Amino acid sequence: MKQVTDEARRRLLRSAALGVALLPFAGLPLRAAIAADLPLVSADDPTAKALKYVSDASKASGAKPGSKCANCSNYQGAAGSAQGGCVLFPGKAVQATGWCSSWTART
Ligand code: SF4
Repeated sequence: MKQVTDEARRRLLRSAALGVALLPFAGLPLRAAIAADLPLVSADDPTAKALKYVSDASKASGAKPGSKCANCSNYQGAAGSAQGGCVLFPGKAVQATGWCSSWTART
């Protein structure tokens, strides 16, 4: 009987460990859906002005070729999304094609 109980305990602990390991990924689809509903950063946003944000990276002066929000480490949108959140613009979304002076390559 004790052997059965130990096995059940091991299974429970394995399941709990797997659940904890997967917890960070639990909200990803929800976060992506929420980001899609966020209002876009406007051109007159003070933070956007300070960071020289533009919705089209090709029109940014000083942008490294190929750099854009979609490949920035601060971008929170899902892969292939047209827009998504950015850690520098809480509660707002930026265009995947956008750029700002805080662009940092996603690694
Ligand atoms: S920090 Fe990155 S994702 Fe955010 S606006 Fe600037 S370039 Fe885009």
